[in-house]
Amino acid sequence: MILPIVAYGDPVLKRKATDITEDYPKLDALVDNMFETMYNAYGVGLAAPQIGLPIRMFLVDTTPFADDEELTEEEQKSLEGFKRVFINPKITKEEGEDWAFNEGCLSIPDVREDVFRKPVITIEYLDENFKAHTETFDGLVARVIQHEYDHIEGVLFTDKLSSLKKRLIKGRLSNISKGKIKVDYRMRFPDQKKKR
Ligand SMILES: [Zn+2]
Repeated sequence: MILPIVAYGDPVLKRKATDITEDYPKLDALVDNMFETMYNAYGVGLAAPQIGLPIRMFLVDTTPFADDEELTEEEQKSLEGFKRVFINPKITKEEGEDWAFNEGCLSIPDVREDVFRKPVITIEYLDENFKAHTETFDGLVARVIQHEYDHIEGVLFTDKLSSLKKRLIKGRLSNISKGKIKVDYRMRFPDQKKKR
């Protein structure tokens, strides 16, 4: 089932999400629905707050990035089929020198900006079967995980921009909250005027 994606301006996107337990109701269905919702919107990651749930869970499938011909064959291979569910994750280490990547977000359609992040991360998490893992990722895989991880911390990529950039996109962000945008997937807008 395709779920509506929460748009910029909804308080759930600003909230620090909470851990879940193994008995979380209908977790399998939630994971399936979130993947379906993400693929339908051509996303590479989706965090639970983006469908209105303030829980520490996100999923990632970087396969669409593997087509980028500017990447090395090794990079393409690391992106192809990288599909994971991260539950109660904790980034324990971020290393290396900040690098810029032009990020976008399914909750903020049509806005893309360069965001600086560290290239190598170590993350502890539970998978969809509540099996614990500790792994180190780099490059675009790390980038997508960092972006999604921010969502469960209540942080959006637009929060990381310079104050000048923030001023420049303010009007567009406010239009997104009001639903004054064209988007080809289901969304829920916090400031949309109710139609009678
Ligand atoms: Zn996002």
